[in-house]
Amino acid sequence: MENGQGKRKMLTLLGKGVSPGMAQGKAFVYKDVLLRDSERYLIDDSQIDDEKTRIKKAIDDVRKCLTIDAKQIEGKLGKQSADIFRAQEAILFDPQIGKEIKRVLETQMFNAEQVIRTVFRVLARRFRDLDNEVLRERGDDIDDLSRRLLLSLAGIHAHSLEKLPANTVLVARRLLPSDTVFLSRSSTVGVLAEFAGPAAHAALLARELGIPCIGGIPDLLETVHTGNFVLVDGTTGTAVLNPNPQAMERHKKASEEVRKSRETMAYVNSVERTVTSDGIEVSVMANVRSREDVELAMQCGADGIGLFRAEPFFLSTKHLPSAKKFATFLLESLEPARGRHIDVRLLDIGADKNPIYLHLPPEPDPSLGRRGVRVLHEYPELLDTQLRAVLEVSQEFGIGILIPMVTVDSDVLHIVSLLQKFSAEMGICRLPRIGAMIETPAAALSIASLRTHVDFFSIGSNDLTQYTMAAGRENPLVAEYFIDDHPTILRLIELVVRESGTTPVSICGELAGRVDVVPKLLKTGIRSLSVAAALVPDVKFAVRKIRKESFMQEKTDNETNHGDCRKQ
Ligand code: PEP
Ligand code: MG
Repeated sequence: MENGQGKRKMLTLLGKGVSPGMAQGKAFVYKDVLLRDSERYLIDDSQIDDEKTRIKKAIDDVRKCLTIDAKQIEGKLGKQSADIFRAQEAILFDPQIGKEIKRVLETQMFNAEQVIRTVFRVLARRFRDLDNEVLRERGDDIDDLSRRLLLSLAGIHAHSLEKLPANTVLVARRLLPSDTVFLSRSSTVGVLAEFAGPAAHAALLARELGIPCIGGIPDLLETVHTGNFVLVDGTTGTAVLNPNPQAMERHKKASEEVRKSRETMAYVNSVERTVTSDGIEVSVMANVRSREDVELAMQCGADGIGLFRAEPFFLSTKHLPSAKKFATFLLESLEPARGRHIDVRLLDIGADKNPIYLHLPPEPDPSLGRRGVRVLHEYPELLDTQLRAVLEVSQEFGIGILIPMVTVDSDVLHIVSLLQKFSAEMGICRLPRIGAMIETPAAALSIASLRTHVDFFSIGSNDLTQYTMAAGRENPLVAEYFIDDHPTILRLIELVVRESGTTPVSICGELAGRVDVVPKLLKTGIRSLSVAAALVPDVKFAVRKIRKESFMQEKTDNETNHGDCRKQ
């Protein structure tokens, strides 16, 4: 660490490896603009007018952006969505706020950033202390406004992760999906996060990109500084800060071994089928989100694309993309997998994934609120765009369409009827395969009925675990309850396979990529797995080592273990 005394001290940081692999690079410490406190300084009388002018300009900028956003959203998604911006605009027009800003500036004599931070923090707290639930949620609007103003004051119009230099090790307290959409293998070689369990979106994304990631490192932002050199071992969950030559040498050797064994496995995968040692064939596909991922998946010998996640594409644009744009993106991304099995999932947003142009109102329990297909029902333009795009793409690639967060039959029926309508309009005779994500206990227990409406199922074990174990996947405080291989989850998976009859079932949650659990999954009857592209070689290797008797033996364990989750 740069300790100010000229000497850099080597330090080993321990966390949990949530995406395997080895990397080395320079740290970039990412702080949310609301968490930064660097721009705080005292001013004198002669500077007051300058700071007032800066604040006025920032308010004008933000107002203009809010007006434009409101208009565009109203045209695309209706008044309800646009009202969120109008409510934020109204707050900025409130003369009381103007007075308070002036008072704080003139009495406390701090710079504009600090004044905005103080005024809006107090205001947000006032809202959050109210009894009325709706008004309490306005606290988020205040935070959002504060963030917009601070960004405008800093002259920032782009996301700070948009242009990271090559060989960056990204260091963050927590990464949200809107942050992670800017991650790319070409710049980010590793990720260290203070909060990131295996099912956190940041971890998931890192695995998909093949970027090593370590979560759960305490006091990370206090320890690592931008520019520090870091070694990352995402398999063991160890990072070394300012390594000495011996540590560098050890890391180099280990990286070389990982690289060689991956190359060997990738070769075997591309030429051999994946069959257990006593003849059971298993399909191992990849979860992807971009052309880069699809290329990696093909290099790793994936049998197809079991889950194409559309969220990063929709989260990375400022305005709702057109059907044409989405179709072009899909056609370009899927090209390397031409001729393979491909399943594209409709947008699964809500909870913490919130495209800027939708401005979904905050909800008291986001993960139990409007997510996935529930959001699609409410924003017809968002849904139509995707359905028209996937229908167009299905003419080129024989894709399947996955519906996220299905709970009841009508979630599926609504999409099916729209697909029929649009395909008739577009003159398409052959409908794509339609699949339901099984991510809620309700869906898992309704397979007999759901299967009459769809062509295949894909089990999302991340959400299935969250909703079955009643443990938020992003909440480190209940991580001990988030047990995705708990006997309860395996029983649900077994039930889905059994009740699905001849309807194909695949599993695409993180559980599918856990080589230690693959025998248990095969025991439930699962024969198709979809995992992060970089994990395909390891999973195929694990399958080939399995003998039927060994996973049949698991039966006894799965059926008898109902113990306290903490003892797992
Ligand atoms: C899942 O829930 O397991 C899944 C694959 O979907 P996501 O992780 O994108 O929510
Ligand atoms: Mg899910």
